[in-house]
Amino acid sequence: MGLKEYKKKRKFSKTPEPESESKSKKSKKPIFVVQKHDASNLHYDFRIEMDGVLKSWAVPKKPSKDPAVKRLAIPTEDHPLEYADFEGEIPEGEYGAGTVEIWDKGTYKKLEGSMNSGKLVLDLKGKKLKGKYSLVNFKKKHKELWLLIKMKD
Ligand code: MN
Repeated sequence: MGLKEYKKKRKFSKTPEPESESKSKKSKKPIFVVQKHDASNLHYDFRIEMDGVLKSWAVPKKPSKDPAVKRLAIPTEDHPLEYADFEGEIPEGEYGAGTVEIWDKGTYKKLEGSMNSGKLVLDLKGKKLKGKYSLVNFKKKHKELWLLIKMKD
């Protein structure tokens, strides 16, 4: 996907969000971040470092630690790696207007799968989210949706 869509949606003269992608930012171990985004609808943006960007999903409800609870995860545009450190206010009238705060952050290990296969199993090492989580793609009325599910460790 790349960052074209990310850049297209934002006016960097108005939003404090980071503009560029820098390769030097790439971490030794891939990172994940969950940003609580209090926008028109409160949601949690779940992002994982992959292929030089942050692959991203909007999770309408707080990610669960209970394997019995499935969370809907709606794919959103790739974000630059710098975005993992972003917290702040996106001004009114701008894309995603509202407050962004880091809810959890850490590293992860990919245990299996790929974006293209529509299934990823990740071992998360965050402060709140720990252990095996799966992200699984399904289609509903031609719309691409994913589920974020805690797996038994
Ligand atoms: Mn968001």
